[in-house]
Amino acid sequence: MNKLIDEAYEALKHSYSPYSNIKIGAAVTGKSGRIYRGTNIENAAYGSTICAERVAIFKAISEGESDISAIAVTGDFDGFAYPCGACRQVMSEFMKKDAKVYVGNKNEEYKEYQLDDMIPFMFTHETKGKQE
Ligand code: ZN
Repeated sequence: MNKLIDEAYEALKHSYSPYSNIKIGAAVTGKSGRIYRGTNIENAAYGSTICAERVAIFKAISEGESDISAIAVTGDFDGFAYPCGACRQVMSEFMKKDAKVYVGNKNEEYKEYQLDDMIPFMFTHETKGKQE
């Protein structure tokens, strides 16, 4: 296990998921080397729910972190916890194309990708209208 995946497992212990009963944890790191954890936080008004990945990224950015270089995401189920589309878009805002993305499962297995595996042809402030 790598350190970031370990942190993501720790984060999912704090999941607030009474509606889906699915626990997700995430952890990110950036230029400072600090690690920021996030977990999914649900709401009775389902649209107000937020994913673990965005909690971790927003915590990092709100505390002044830059150049997020890696994110780990894991869940309490057998399948691998791949980020949803909204989270992939947020990742593309704050991470470079070659940033690491680790995706885990409850068996403490994980797969390694880079961001542009997750979201090819990404829509960013640099690429708006420039890709064919
Ligand atoms: Zn998401």
